[in-house]
Amino acid sequence: MKNDPFETALNTLLTAGKIAGLEPNAIKLLSQPKRIFEFTIPMKMDNGEFKIFNAFRVHYNDALGEIKDGTRFVLNLDLNTVKALGFWMTIKHAVSGIPAGGGKGGIRVDPEKLSEWELERLVRAFIRKLPMKGAWVDVPGADIGTSAKTQAWMLDEYEEIVGFHSPAAVNDKPAEVNGTLGSMEATGTGAFFVTMEAVRDLELPKGISIAVQGFGDVGRTITRLLYNEGFKVVAISDIKGGIYSKEGLNIEKLVKHVEDTGFVANFPETVAITNEELLETNCDILIPAAVQSVITDKNADKVKAKLIIEGANGPTTTKAEKILEDNEVTIIPDVLANCGGAIVCSFERTQGLTDTYWDLETVNKKLKKRILKAYKETTVTAKEKNTSLRNAAWMNALIKISKAMKARGWI
Ligand code: NAD
Repeated sequence: MKNDPFETALNTLLTAGKIAGLEPNAIKLLSQPKRIFEFTIPMKMDNGEFKIFNAFRVHYNDALGEIKDGTRFVLNLDLNTVKALGFWMTIKHAVSGIPAGGGKGGIRVDPEKLSEWELERLVRAFIRKLPMKGAWVDVPGADIGTSAKTQAWMLDEYEEIVGFHSPAAVNDKPAEVNGTLGSMEATGTGAFFVTMEAVRDLELPKGISIAVQGFGDVGRTITRLLYNEGFKVVAISDIKGGIYSKEGLNIEKLVKHVEDTGFVANFPETVAITNEELLETNCDILIPAAVQSVITDKNADKVKAKLIIEGANGPTTTKAEKILEDNEVTIIPDVLANCGGAIVCSFERTQGLTDTYWDLETVNKKLKKRILKAYKETTVTAKEKNTSLRNAAWMNALIKISKAMKARGWI
């Protein structure tokens, strides 16, 4: 199958697993999910029409702890994407030292086409029909198409079913219903901490330039934080296209412009560029923070940046990575650069379990400590094994998971 994300994940498993010297049984077991649930949700719409929605939940591997993460509501959801995302979450948790396994789920639906009441009924039905759930089994979080609002409904439905409060059973909830502070900004903030460390390690000078693809939760957060540190932001884009300014953009004014107009386009004193041009912009750091597979063998040679921070999941294809490596471009891989959200989700569960809620300063301090530890471990392995940071991050994760599988007697 072409561009199958699960195939990409398996390729990385084989490459990193080989360098790590993983035993064949570990590779075999990690080549497939532990459990797959596929079910239908029949629903009567507001207008009386009868519809059936297809839902999935994949428990990829839980050797390190309970299954945790994301619920995606998109029209083109397929099982292999859910499997790949579940595998990536398994790796991300292990990279960042979170004692959790990885999972992913979702419904094949365009949530924009549902009324508020239809969406709520669908979310509640998804939770009711999930065969295994709860703080020690499977903790669903948000992803594309879901939000703090859907997570509050998920929690409420779960608590109605079990008959007691259980805030650790669902992640990405609003702070008002026992969520955590800092969850919306966690991924961008974590990527910012990693960027600052990489800039220091690579001895890049202050005031260097950045270009960012995507100005959503991840892109906007990291851009703002780097801008406040004195980085020159020369280009930004969103789904409608990008803007460029050689002199640098005023990010606080841009945030206001986007709040007013919805998009970065037509920001005063900038040149309009395409998303393709953004990736080839003259800049020191490129931050793809929108969608997957944007840096390919077609444009990798034209990338001018010397450092790429993968805010998005899977923005660089395998072929592109080889070209970038030959051109001595450093890539901070997604499983490391964007694991801040996963880290703060684990903090959310800890707060729910202990019924103790932290202030934002505590959340960010703990996030920084944990993500920089993961960064350090990854760079040390990369140096020792003379391999890429992506291989190194996966190797460290695979070794942790395979040791746990061995200790449990699975392999
Ligand atoms: P978001 O929906 O808040 O923002 C996405 C941004 O990308 C928007 O500005 C949108 O206009 C733009 N965009 C969408 N499609 C595009 C395209 N084809 N070309 C260019 N720009 C496009 O999403 P987010 O939460 O900021 O997530 C961004 C990426 O980071 C995704 O790949 C997501 O999977 C990944 N990620 C997010 C988190 C998180 O906690 N939010 C965690 C890990 C990884």
